[in-house]
Amino acid sequence: MNVFWHRRDLRATDNRGLARAAATDESVVPCFVLDPTVLEHASPVRVACLLEALEDLRSWYRDRESDLLVVRGEASAVVPEIAAEYDVTRVVWNEDYSGLARERDRAVRAALEEEGIAAESVHDAIHHEPGSITPNQGEHYSVFSYFWTKWRDRDKRDPAAEPAADDLAAVSGEPTPTLAALGFNEPAATPPTVTTAAARERVADFCSGPIYDYVERRDFPAESGTSRLSPQLKWGTIGPRELYAATERAAERAEGDGNRESVREFQRQLAWREFYAHVLAFNPETVTENFSGYEHEIEWREDPDALAAWQAGETGYPIVDAGMRQLRREGWMHNRVRMLVAAFLTKDLLLDWRAGYDWFRRTLADHDTANDVGGWQWASSTGTDAQPYFRVFNPMKQGREYDPDAEYIREYVPELADAPADDIHDWHELSDDDRERIAPDYPAPIVDHGTRREQAIAMFERARGEG
Ligand code: FAD
Repeated sequence: MNVFWHRRDLRATDNRGLARAAATDESVVPCFVLDPTVLEHASPVRVACLLEALEDLRSWYRDRESDLLVVRGEASAVVPEIAAEYDVTRVVWNEDYSGLARERDRAVRAALEEEGIAAESVHDAIHHEPGSITPNQGEHYSVFSYFWTKWRDRDKRDPAAEPAADDLAAVSGEPTPTLAALGFNEPAATPPTVTTAAARERVADFCSGPIYDYVERRDFPAESGTSRLSPQLKWGTIGPRELYAATERAAERAEGDGNRESVREFQRQLAWREFYAHVLAFNPETVTENFSGYEHEIEWREDPDALAAWQAGETGYPIVDAGMRQLRREGWMHNRVRMLVAAFLTKDLLLDWRAGYDWFRRTLADHDTANDVGGWQWASSTGTDAQPYFRVFNPMKQGREYDPDAEYIREYVPELADAPADDIHDWHELSDDDRERIAPDYPAPIVDHGTRREQAIAMFERARGEG
Protein backbone atom coordinates (compact mmCIF):
# COMPACT_ATOMS: atom_id res chain seq x y z
CA MET A 1 0.00 0.00 0.00
CA ASN A 2 0.91 3.68 -0.31
CA VAL A 3 0.17 6.36 2.24
CA PHE A 4 -0.85 9.75 0.95
CA TRP A 5 -0.26 12.37 3.63
CA HIS A 6 -2.57 15.37 3.18
CA ARG A 7 -1.39 18.69 4.66
CA ARG A 8 -2.43 21.97 3.05
CA ASP A 9 -4.08 20.21 0.10
CA LEU A 10 -7.42 19.14 1.54
CA ARG A 11 -9.00 18.08 -1.72
CA ALA A 12 -9.18 15.02 -3.93
CA THR A 13 -9.21 16.72 -7.35
CA ASP A 14 -6.26 18.59 -8.78
CA ASN A 15 -4.02 17.07 -6.15
CA ARG A 16 -0.80 16.02 -7.86
CA GLY A 17 0.62 14.08 -4.92
CA LEU A 18 -2.57 12.11 -4.42
CA ALA A 19 -2.76 11.36 -8.14
CA ARG A 20 0.86 10.17 -8.01
CA ALA A 21 0.17 7.92 -5.02
CA ALA A 22 -2.86 6.45 -6.82
CA ALA A 23 -1.00 5.87 -10.08
CA THR A 24 0.43 2.49 -9.03
CA ASP A 25 -1.03 -0.95 -8.39
CA GLU A 26 -0.97 -0.26 -4.67
CA SER A 27 -4.04 1.16 -2.96
CA VAL A 28 -3.81 4.46 -1.11
CA VAL A 29 -4.27 5.04 2.63
CA PRO A 30 -5.01 8.79 3.02
CA CYS A 31 -4.04 10.47 6.29
CA PHE A 32 -3.79 13.87 7.98
CA VAL A 33 -1.70 14.55 11.07
CA LEU A 34 -2.73 17.04 13.74
CA ASP A 35 0.84 17.86 14.68
CA PRO A 36 1.32 19.80 17.95
CA THR A 37 4.07 21.97 16.44
CA VAL A 38 1.67 23.05 13.68
CA LEU A 39 -1.25 23.54 16.09
CA GLU A 40 0.98 25.67 18.32
CA HIS A 41 1.11 28.26 15.52
CA ALA A 42 -2.59 28.02 14.69
CA SER A 43 -5.59 30.01 15.94
CA PRO A 44 -9.26 29.17 16.65
CA VAL A 45 -10.56 30.58 13.37
CA ARG A 46 -8.04 28.67 11.29
CA VAL A 47 -8.45 25.43 13.18
CA ALA A 48 -12.24 25.75 12.74
CA CYS A 49 -11.65 26.05 8.98
CA LEU A 50 -9.26 23.12 9.08
CA LEU A 51 -11.75 20.87 10.88
CA GLU A 52 -14.48 21.73 8.40
CA ALA A 53 -12.18 21.01 5.46
CA LEU A 54 -11.14 17.69 7.02
CA GLU A 55 -14.74 16.58 7.50
CA ASP A 56 -15.53 17.57 3.95
CA LEU A 57 -12.64 15.54 2.60
CA ARG A 58 -13.50 12.60 4.84
CA SER A 59 -16.99 12.46 3.38
CA TRP A 60 -15.48 12.40 -0.12
CA TYR A 61 -13.39 9.38 0.86
CA ARG A 62 -16.23 7.71 2.75
CA ASP A 63 -18.46 7.96 -0.31
CA ARG A 64 -15.84 5.72 -1.93
CA GLU A 65 -15.68 3.12 0.88
CA SER A 66 -12.47 4.62 2.25
CA ASP A 67 -11.63 7.30 4.84
CA LEU A 68 -9.10 9.95 5.72
CA LEU A 69 -7.27 8.90 8.88
CA VAL A 70 -6.99 11.96 11.13
CA VAL A 71 -4.33 11.26 13.73
CA ARG A 72 -2.83 13.39 16.52
CA GLY A 73 0.88 13.44 17.31
CA GLU A 74 4.31 14.41 16.00
CA ALA A 75 4.34 13.69 12.27
CA SER A 76 7.77 12.06 12.48
CA ALA A 77 6.29 9.45 14.86
CA VAL A 78 2.73 9.16 13.52
CA VAL A 79 3.42 8.80 9.78
CA PRO A 80 5.84 5.83 10.23
CA GLU A 81 3.31 4.26 12.64
CA ILE A 82 0.54 4.43 10.04
CA ALA A 83 2.97 3.06 7.45
CA ALA A 84 3.82 0.12 9.72
CA GLU A 85 0.17 -0.60 10.55
CA TYR A 86 -0.86 -0.83 6.90
CA ASP A 87 2.30 -2.50 5.62
CA VAL A 88 3.10 0.46 3.43
CA THR A 89 6.13 0.70 1.14
CA ARG A 90 5.86 4.34 0.12
CA VAL A 91 4.59 7.59 1.60
CA VAL A 92 3.76 10.48 -0.74
CA TRP A 93 3.03 14.12 0.12
CA ASN A 94 2.92 17.54 -1.51
CA GLU A 95 5.71 20.03 -0.77
CA ASP A 96 5.09 22.85 1.68
CA TYR A 97 7.67 25.60 1.25
CA SER A 98 7.70 27.22 4.68
CA GLY A 99 10.73 26.69 6.90
CA LEU A 100 8.83 25.02 9.73
CA ALA A 101 7.12 22.57 7.35
CA ARG A 102 10.39 21.72 5.64
CA GLU A 103 12.01 20.95 8.98
CA ARG A 104 9.11 18.66 9.88
CA ASP A 105 9.25 16.95 6.49
CA ARG A 106 12.97 16.28 6.81
CA ALA A 107 12.34 14.57 10.16
CA VAL A 108 9.50 12.46 8.68
CA ARG A 109 11.60 11.47 5.68
CA ALA A 110 14.50 10.41 7.92
CA ALA A 111 12.18 8.38 10.20
CA LEU A 112 10.62 6.60 7.20
CA GLU A 113 13.92 5.86 5.54
CA GLU A 114 15.15 4.32 8.77
CA GLU A 115 12.25 1.86 8.47
CA GLY A 116 13.05 1.18 4.81
CA ILE A 117 9.95 3.04 3.60
CA ALA A 118 10.27 5.29 0.57
CA ALA A 119 9.26 8.96 0.92
CA GLU A 120 8.28 10.96 -2.14
CA SER A 121 7.31 14.63 -2.30
CA VAL A 122 5.56 16.30 -5.20
CA HIS A 123 5.22 19.98 -6.23
CA ASP A 124 1.55 20.85 -6.14
CA ALA A 125 0.69 24.03 -4.20
CA ILE A 126 1.83 26.40 -6.94
CA HIS A 127 2.23 26.13 -10.70
CA HIS A 128 5.98 26.63 -10.89
CA GLU A 129 8.04 25.42 -7.98
CA PRO A 130 10.74 27.47 -6.25
CA GLY A 131 13.90 27.44 -8.32
CA SER A 132 12.04 27.06 -11.62
CA ILE A 133 11.62 30.79 -12.34
CA THR A 134 14.95 32.48 -11.76
CA PRO A 135 16.91 35.53 -12.86
CA ASN A 136 20.27 35.10 -14.60
CA GLN A 137 21.92 35.24 -11.22
CA GLY A 138 20.38 34.16 -7.95
CA GLU A 139 17.81 31.66 -6.81
CA HIS A 140 14.69 33.76 -7.07
CA TYR A 141 13.43 37.10 -8.31
CA SER A 142 13.20 39.92 -5.79
CA VAL A 143 11.19 42.15 -8.12
CA PHE A 144 7.69 40.90 -8.80
CA SER A 145 7.22 42.43 -12.27
CA TYR A 146 10.11 40.35 -13.71
CA PHE A 147 8.78 37.23 -12.03
CA TRP A 148 5.27 37.90 -13.34
CA THR A 149 6.37 38.17 -16.98
CA LYS A 150 8.05 34.78 -16.84
CA TRP A 151 5.29 33.19 -14.77
CA ARG A 152 2.62 34.44 -17.17
CA ASP A 153 4.36 33.09 -20.26
CA ARG A 154 5.17 29.67 -18.82
CA ASP A 155 2.89 26.75 -19.80
CA LYS A 156 0.56 25.67 -17.02
CA ARG A 157 -0.29 22.06 -16.21
CA ASP A 158 -3.87 20.77 -16.43
CA PRO A 159 -5.63 19.91 -13.16
CA ALA A 160 -4.71 16.43 -11.90
CA ALA A 161 -7.53 13.85 -12.04
CA GLU A 162 -9.08 12.60 -8.81
CA PRO A 163 -8.26 8.99 -7.86
CA ALA A 164 -10.74 6.25 -8.73
CA ALA A 165 -12.61 4.60 -5.84
CA ASP A 166 -10.78 1.31 -6.35
CA ASP A 167 -7.40 3.07 -5.95
CA LEU A 168 -8.30 3.73 -2.31
CA ALA A 169 -7.76 1.41 0.66
CA ALA A 170 -10.85 0.34 2.62
CA VAL A 171 -9.88 2.02 5.90
CA SER A 172 -11.93 3.64 8.60
CA GLY A 173 -10.59 6.25 11.04
CA GLU A 174 -11.43 7.58 14.49
CA PRO A 175 -13.72 10.65 14.65
CA THR A 176 -12.01 14.00 14.00
CA PRO A 177 -11.29 15.80 17.31
CA THR A 178 -13.35 18.88 18.08
CA LEU A 179 -11.99 22.39 18.47
CA ALA A 180 -12.32 22.11 22.26
CA ALA A 181 -10.59 18.72 22.33
CA LEU A 182 -7.66 20.35 20.54
CA GLY A 183 -7.54 23.06 23.22
CA PHE A 184 -9.03 25.93 21.22
CA ASN A 185 -11.86 28.29 22.17
CA GLU A 186 -14.68 29.05 19.78
CA PRO A 187 -13.33 31.67 17.34
CA ALA A 188 -14.31 35.31 17.84
CA ALA A 189 -14.77 35.64 14.06
CA THR A 190 -17.28 33.69 11.97
CA PRO A 191 -15.13 31.22 10.02
CA PRO A 192 -15.59 31.28 6.25
CA THR A 193 -16.87 28.08 4.61
CA VAL A 194 -13.85 26.43 3.09
CA THR A 195 -15.25 23.21 1.63
CA THR A 196 -14.37 22.27 -1.94
CA ALA A 197 -18.00 22.69 -3.00
CA ALA A 198 -18.07 26.22 -1.53
CA ALA A 199 -14.75 27.03 -3.22
CA ARG A 200 -16.01 25.78 -6.58
CA GLU A 201 -19.21 27.76 -6.24
CA ARG A 202 -17.18 30.87 -5.49
CA VAL A 203 -14.91 30.26 -8.48
CA ALA A 204 -17.93 29.73 -10.75
CA ASP A 205 -19.66 32.90 -9.48
CA PHE A 206 -16.53 35.01 -9.64
CA CYS A 207 -15.53 33.80 -13.12
CA SER A 208 -19.00 34.37 -14.52
CA GLY A 209 -19.05 38.12 -13.80
CA PRO A 210 -16.93 39.88 -11.16
CA ILE A 211 -13.65 38.76 -12.73
CA TYR A 212 -14.37 41.05 -15.70
CA ASP A 213 -14.63 44.09 -13.41
CA TYR A 214 -11.68 43.11 -11.24
CA VAL A 215 -9.48 46.01 -12.41
CA GLU A 216 -12.13 48.61 -11.61
CA ARG A 217 -13.47 47.13 -8.39
CA ARG A 218 -10.70 45.25 -6.62
CA ASP A 219 -9.47 48.25 -4.64
CA PHE A 220 -12.82 49.26 -3.17
CA PRO A 221 -13.49 47.43 0.10
CA ALA A 222 -17.23 48.19 0.15
CA GLU A 223 -17.65 46.22 -3.10
CA SER A 224 -17.49 42.46 -3.56
CA GLY A 225 -14.86 42.96 -6.22
CA THR A 226 -12.38 40.24 -5.24
CA SER A 227 -12.74 36.47 -5.17
CA ARG A 228 -12.41 35.91 -1.39
CA LEU A 229 -10.77 32.61 -2.22
CA SER A 230 -7.79 33.11 0.10
CA PRO A 231 -9.06 30.82 2.92
CA GLN A 232 -9.74 28.02 0.42
CA LEU A 233 -6.34 28.53 -1.19
CA LYS A 234 -4.76 28.48 2.26
CA TRP A 235 -6.17 25.02 3.07
CA GLY A 236 -6.00 23.85 -0.52
CA THR A 237 -9.67 22.91 -0.80
CA ILE A 238 -9.40 24.20 -4.37
CA GLY A 239 -6.35 23.43 -6.49
CA PRO A 240 -4.27 26.14 -8.22
CA ARG A 241 -4.61 24.46 -11.63
CA GLU A 242 -8.37 24.09 -11.34
CA LEU A 243 -8.68 27.77 -10.42
CA TYR A 244 -6.33 28.90 -13.18
CA ALA A 245 -8.16 26.79 -15.78
CA ALA A 246 -11.42 28.49 -14.74
CA THR A 247 -9.80 31.91 -15.28
CA GLU A 248 -8.55 30.82 -18.71
CA ARG A 249 -12.08 29.78 -19.68
CA ALA A 250 -13.29 33.17 -18.43
CA ALA A 251 -10.65 34.81 -20.65
CA GLU A 252 -11.97 32.87 -23.65
CA ARG A 253 -15.49 34.09 -22.95
CA ALA A 254 -14.34 37.69 -22.36
CA GLU A 255 -15.85 40.36 -24.57
CA GLY A 256 -13.37 43.08 -25.42
CA ASP A 257 -9.88 43.99 -24.27
CA GLY A 258 -11.06 45.47 -20.96
CA ASN A 259 -12.57 42.18 -19.82
CA ARG A 260 -9.53 40.23 -20.92
CA GLU A 261 -7.25 42.67 -19.12
CA SER A 262 -9.26 42.21 -15.96
CA VAL A 263 -8.84 38.43 -16.09
CA ARG A 264 -5.09 38.98 -16.59
CA GLU A 265 -5.00 41.26 -13.56
CA PHE A 266 -6.62 38.55 -11.44
CA GLN A 267 -4.08 36.02 -12.71
CA ARG A 268 -1.37 38.52 -11.77
CA GLN A 269 -2.59 38.42 -8.15
CA LEU A 270 -2.42 34.63 -8.23
CA ALA A 271 1.20 35.04 -9.31
CA TRP A 272 1.93 37.21 -6.22
CA ARG A 273 1.06 34.18 -4.12
CA GLU A 274 3.64 32.14 -6.03
CA PHE A 275 6.24 34.92 -5.96
CA TYR A 276 6.07 35.06 -2.17
CA ALA A 277 6.24 31.25 -1.95
CA HIS A 278 9.52 31.39 -3.92
CA VAL A 279 10.89 34.20 -1.75
CA LEU A 280 10.08 32.34 1.47
CA ALA A 281 11.43 29.02 0.20
CA PHE A 282 14.86 30.57 -0.30
CA ASN A 283 14.70 32.91 2.71
CA PRO A 284 12.99 31.03 5.56
CA GLU A 285 14.53 33.40 8.11
CA THR A 286 12.40 36.30 6.78
CA VAL A 287 9.50 35.12 8.95
CA THR A 288 11.32 36.93 11.74
CA GLU A 289 14.00 39.01 10.02
CA ASN A 290 13.86 41.90 7.58
CA PHE A 291 14.38 40.80 4.01
CA SER A 292 16.26 43.95 2.99
CA GLY A 293 19.18 44.88 5.14
CA TYR A 294 19.42 48.37 6.64
CA GLU A 295 22.82 49.48 7.86
CA HIS A 296 21.50 49.92 11.42
CA GLU A 297 18.60 48.52 13.38
CA ILE A 298 15.29 50.26 12.69
CA GLU A 299 14.37 51.99 15.95
CA TRP A 300 10.79 50.74 16.23
CA ARG A 301 8.91 52.14 19.23
CA GLU A 302 7.58 50.06 22.09
CA ASP A 303 4.02 51.18 22.79
CA PRO A 304 1.63 48.50 24.09
CA ASP A 305 -1.28 50.96 24.33
CA ALA A 306 -0.95 51.98 20.69
CA LEU A 307 -0.68 48.32 19.67
CA ALA A 308 -3.83 47.49 21.67
CA ALA A 309 -5.72 50.41 20.07
CA TRP A 310 -4.70 49.20 16.62
CA GLN A 311 -5.74 45.62 17.39
CA ALA A 312 -9.10 46.77 18.76
CA GLY A 313 -9.80 49.17 15.86
CA GLU A 314 -9.76 52.19 18.17
CA THR A 315 -7.12 54.42 16.58
CA GLY A 316 -9.45 57.24 15.54
CA TYR A 317 -8.50 56.66 11.87
CA PRO A 318 -11.81 55.36 10.46
CA ILE A 319 -10.55 53.29 7.51
CA VAL A 320 -7.89 51.65 9.70
CA ASP A 321 -10.40 50.87 12.43
CA ALA A 322 -12.92 49.48 9.94
CA GLY A 323 -10.28 47.08 8.62
CA MET A 324 -9.21 45.91 12.05
CA ARG A 325 -12.81 45.31 13.04
CA GLN A 326 -13.55 43.46 9.82
CA LEU A 327 -10.64 41.20 10.73
CA ARG A 328 -12.14 40.51 14.17
CA ARG A 329 -15.59 39.86 12.81
CA GLU A 330 -14.75 37.84 9.69
CA GLY A 331 -11.18 36.61 10.06
CA TRP A 332 -10.55 38.30 6.71
CA MET A 333 -9.72 41.81 5.52
CA HIS A 334 -9.78 43.43 2.11
CA ASN A 335 -6.32 43.69 0.48
CA ARG A 336 -6.32 47.48 0.10
CA VAL A 337 -7.18 47.83 3.78
CA ARG A 338 -4.55 45.25 4.80
CA MET A 339 -1.99 47.50 3.11
CA LEU A 340 -3.35 50.55 4.95
CA VAL A 341 -3.48 49.02 8.42
CA ALA A 342 0.00 47.55 7.99
CA ALA A 343 1.39 50.89 6.82
CA PHE A 344 -0.39 52.61 9.70
CA LEU A 345 1.11 50.27 12.29
CA THR A 346 4.64 50.70 11.00
CA LYS A 347 4.70 54.28 9.66
CA ASP A 348 2.20 56.05 11.94
CA LEU A 349 2.51 54.09 15.16
CA LEU A 350 6.18 53.31 14.37
CA LEU A 351 5.73 49.78 15.69
CA ASP A 352 7.66 46.76 14.49
CA TRP A 353 5.98 44.90 11.58
CA ARG A 354 6.48 41.64 13.51
CA ALA A 355 3.88 42.75 16.11
CA GLY A 356 1.38 43.29 13.30
CA TYR A 357 2.31 40.04 11.57
CA ASP A 358 1.81 38.20 14.86
CA TRP A 359 -1.70 39.65 15.23
CA PHE A 360 -2.60 38.76 11.65
CA ARG A 361 -1.22 35.24 12.20
CA ARG A 362 -3.51 34.86 15.19
CA THR A 363 -6.63 36.34 13.61
CA LEU A 364 -6.66 35.74 9.84
CA ALA A 365 -8.56 32.71 8.55
CA ASP A 366 -6.36 32.82 5.44
CA HIS A 367 -3.02 33.31 7.23
CA ASP A 368 -0.37 31.99 4.91
CA THR A 369 3.20 32.45 6.10
CA ALA A 370 4.59 33.43 2.70
CA ASN A 371 1.83 35.91 1.81
CA ASP A 372 1.55 37.34 5.29
CA VAL A 373 5.28 37.92 5.74
CA GLY A 374 5.49 39.21 2.16
CA GLY A 375 2.60 41.63 2.73
CA TRP A 376 3.97 42.90 6.02
CA GLN A 377 7.50 43.36 4.79
CA TRP A 378 6.23 45.10 1.67
CA ALA A 379 4.12 47.56 3.68
CA SER A 380 6.86 48.25 6.22
CA SER A 381 9.53 48.89 3.55
CA THR A 382 11.71 46.01 4.73
CA GLY A 383 10.80 43.43 2.08
CA THR A 384 11.69 42.43 -1.45
CA ASP A 385 10.19 44.80 -3.95
CA ALA A 386 8.95 46.83 -0.97
CA GLN A 387 7.07 50.09 -0.77
CA PRO A 388 9.88 52.74 -0.66
CA TYR A 389 10.37 53.93 2.94
CA PHE A 390 9.68 57.59 2.06
CA ARG A 391 6.28 56.85 0.47
CA VAL A 392 3.91 56.87 3.42
CA PHE A 393 0.21 56.13 2.90
CA ASN A 394 -2.06 58.91 4.08
CA PRO A 395 -4.95 57.03 5.78
CA MET A 396 -7.44 59.88 5.38
CA LYS A 397 -6.75 60.34 1.67
CA GLN A 398 -6.85 56.60 1.12
CA GLY A 399 -10.16 56.37 2.96
CA ARG A 400 -11.64 59.12 0.79
CA GLU A 401 -10.31 57.59 -2.40
CA TYR A 402 -11.26 53.96 -1.82
CA ASP A 403 -14.36 54.32 0.34
CA PRO A 404 -15.73 57.68 -0.85
CA ASP A 405 -19.21 57.24 0.64
CA ALA A 406 -17.75 55.69 3.82
CA GLU A 407 -19.97 52.65 3.26
CA TYR A 408 -17.30 50.19 4.30
CA ILE A 409 -16.34 52.29 7.32
CA ARG A 410 -19.94 52.58 8.51
CA GLU A 411 -20.48 48.84 8.16
CA TYR A 412 -17.68 48.00 10.57
CA VAL A 413 -17.59 51.07 12.80
CA PRO A 414 -21.16 51.47 14.07
CA GLU A 415 -20.22 54.56 16.13
CA LEU A 416 -19.90 56.36 12.77
CA ALA A 417 -23.09 54.91 11.27
CA ASP A 418 -24.88 58.27 11.23
CA ALA A 419 -21.90 60.49 10.50
CA PRO A 420 -21.68 62.20 7.08
CA ALA A 421 -18.94 60.81 4.81
CA ASP A 422 -17.07 64.14 4.74
CA ASP A 423 -16.87 64.27 8.51
CA ILE A 424 -15.65 60.68 8.61
CA HIS A 425 -12.88 61.41 6.13
CA ASP A 426 -11.97 64.67 7.90
CA TRP A 427 -12.19 63.16 11.38
CA HIS A 428 -8.61 64.21 12.18
CA GLU A 429 -9.37 67.86 11.33
CA LEU A 430 -12.57 68.25 13.32
CA SER A 431 -12.57 70.04 16.67
CA ASP A 432 -13.13 67.98 19.80
CA ASP A 433 -16.55 69.62 20.12
CA ASP A 434 -17.54 68.61 16.60
CA ARG A 435 -16.32 65.06 17.16
CA GLU A 436 -18.29 64.88 20.39
CA ARG A 437 -21.41 66.11 18.58
CA ILE A 438 -21.09 63.84 15.52
CA ALA A 439 -19.98 60.52 17.05
CA PRO A 440 -19.43 60.78 20.82
CA ASP A 441 -18.36 57.14 21.19
CA TYR A 442 -15.70 57.15 18.50
CA PRO A 443 -12.14 58.13 19.60
CA ALA A 444 -10.09 61.11 18.40
CA PRO A 445 -6.98 60.16 16.35
CA ILE A 446 -4.35 58.70 18.70
CA VAL A 447 -1.47 60.18 16.68
CA ASP A 448 -0.97 63.05 14.26
CA HIS A 449 -0.32 61.60 10.81
CA GLY A 450 1.79 64.54 9.55
CA THR A 451 4.16 64.43 12.54
CA ARG A 452 4.45 60.66 12.47
CA ARG A 453 5.12 60.61 8.76
CA GLU A 454 8.19 62.81 9.28
CA GLN A 455 9.32 60.73 12.23
CA ALA A 456 8.95 57.55 10.18
CA ILE A 457 11.06 58.90 7.32
CA ALA A 458 13.72 60.08 9.81
CA MET A 459 13.65 56.64 11.49
CA PHE A 460 14.31 54.90 8.17
CA GLU A 461 17.00 57.41 7.22
CA ARG A 462 18.83 56.72 10.48
CA ALA A 463 18.56 53.00 9.76
CA ARG A 464 20.07 53.67 6.34
CA GLY A 465 22.92 55.52 8.01
CA GLU A 466 21.77 58.90 6.67
CA GLY A 467 20.34 60.39 9.85
P1 FAD B 1 -8.20 38.26 -4.71
O1 FAD B 1 -7.95 39.67 -5.07
O2 FAD B 1 -9.41 37.64 -5.20
O3 FAD B 1 -6.92 37.45 -5.20
C1 FAD B 1 -6.98 36.03 -5.47
C2 FAD B 1 -5.86 35.34 -4.75
O4 FAD B 1 -4.60 35.83 -5.18
C3 FAD B 1 -5.87 35.54 -3.24
O5 FAD B 1 -6.79 34.69 -2.62
C4 FAD B 1 -4.43 35.24 -2.89
O6 FAD B 1 -4.19 33.85 -2.86
C5 FAD B 1 -3.68 35.82 -4.09
N1 FAD B 1 -3.28 37.19 -3.79
C6 FAD B 1 -3.95 38.33 -4.05
N2 FAD B 1 -3.24 39.41 -3.65
C7 FAD B 1 -2.11 38.93 -3.11
C8 FAD B 1 -0.96 39.54 -2.53
N3 FAD B 1 -0.82 40.87 -2.44
N4 FAD B 1 0.02 38.74 -2.05
C9 FAD B 1 -0.07 37.41 -2.16
N5 FAD B 1 -1.13 36.76 -2.71
C10 FAD B 1 -2.13 37.52 -3.18
N6 FAD B 1 -2.89 36.79 1.62
C11 FAD B 1 -3.09 35.55 2.09
O7 FAD B 1 -3.55 34.68 1.35
N7 FAD B 1 -2.74 35.23 3.39
C12 FAD B 1 -2.19 36.15 4.24
O8 FAD B 1 -1.89 35.81 5.38
C13 FAD B 1 -2.03 37.48 3.77
N8 FAD B 1 -1.54 38.45 4.59
C14 FAD B 1 -1.38 39.71 4.11
C15 FAD B 1 -0.83 40.69 4.96
C16 FAD B 1 -0.64 41.99 4.50
C17 FAD B 1 -0.07 43.03 5.42
C18 FAD B 1 -0.99 42.31 3.18
C19 FAD B 1 -0.79 43.72 2.67
C20 FAD B 1 -1.51 41.36 2.33
C21 FAD B 1 -1.71 40.04 2.77
N9 FAD B 1 -2.24 39.04 1.94
C22 FAD B 1 -2.39 37.77 2.42
C23 FAD B 1 -2.49 39.30 0.51
C24 FAD B 1 -3.93 39.73 0.15
O9 FAD B 1 -4.33 40.77 0.99
C25 FAD B 1 -4.94 38.58 0.23
O10 FAD B 1 -4.47 37.47 -0.49
C26 FAD B 1 -6.28 38.98 -0.36
O11 FAD B 1 -6.79 40.12 0.30
C27 FAD B 1 -7.25 37.82 -0.25
O12 FAD B 1 -8.51 38.19 -0.72
P2 FAD B 1 -9.10 37.58 -2.06
O13 FAD B 1 -8.97 36.10 -2.03
O14 FAD B 1 -10.43 38.16 -2.26
O15 FAD B 1 -8.08 38.16 -3.12
